[in-house]
Amino acid sequence: MIIDFHTHTFPDKIAARTIELLAEKGNVKPFREGTLSSLKESMKRSGVDYSVILPVATAVRQVESINRLAAELNGKDGIIYAGAIHPECENIDEILDFIKNAGLFGIKLHPDYQGVYFNDERVLKILEGAAKRGLYIVTHAGIDVAYPDDVHCTPDMVLEVLDKLGGVIDDKLILAHLGGCDMGEEVLKKLVGKPVYMDTAVVLDRYPETAEKIIRAHGTDKILFATDSPWADQKNFIDLLCGFGFSEEDLRLMYCENGKKILKSAKINTL
Ligand SMILES: [Zn+2]
Repeated sequence: MIIDFHTHTFPDKIAARTIELLAEKGNVKPFREGTLSSLKESMKRSGVDYSVILPVATAVRQVESINRLAAELNGKDGIIYAGAIHPECENIDEILDFIKNAGLFGIKLHPDYQGVYFNDERVLKILEGAAKRGLYIVTHAGIDVAYPDDVHCTPDMVLEVLDKLGGVIDDKLILAHLGGCDMGEEVLKKLVGKPVYMDTAVVLDRYPETAEKIIRAHGTDKILFATDSPWADQKNFIDLLCGFGFSEEDLRLMYCENGKKILKSAKINTL
């Protein structure tokens, strides 16, 4: 079984335009259309059994409708949703309750697109509230291609947050892009071995050697196979991870067992 723990979709009506804009802004290439149906086609083609969609609310007003959709589609056709929240939301507790009651496994944060730094008080409040409800938190980490000069979630910020929250979010935080996109060396120095999960989105082919070092140093029991589709090809990433020469057992952990453990908290019958 293969779980891709980091994918994105956009509403059919705006998918083409959004993908075009994001591709231009970040100078990146999409590997499929941005729609839900194109993700399902990619899964079939690549042999991915489950894709976790991580919706990013870039404004407070988007949160409610994203979460309603996430609650409705979660667990259907191999699609698993994270909930959305925005640091400027006033009703954080209410939103987190909704997400928990809807059976979602957690929330997605993207500090660069949400105008906050990861060590901001408002983020800390969300992290604490989520973890106390048993929800996981996936955050973008490291350099975002659209804002390369102003990193909103650095390894230092992560260390500060782990420290400030004193164990509350241990093993509940999932850092995308192996702890920090384009900051692999710093991740190796500062974050490997900390009580966090890391996903493999984007970086597997961006810097394979460093990626492999991070995975081995951090431990395969805390790594989640992920692509960031449409910004990477699911089949290509499966082959890349397979090509590093990890044992069958290590691969099983990364492709599915670690993800299954996290998703146990979600109400998905087939998993
Ligand atoms: Zn992403």
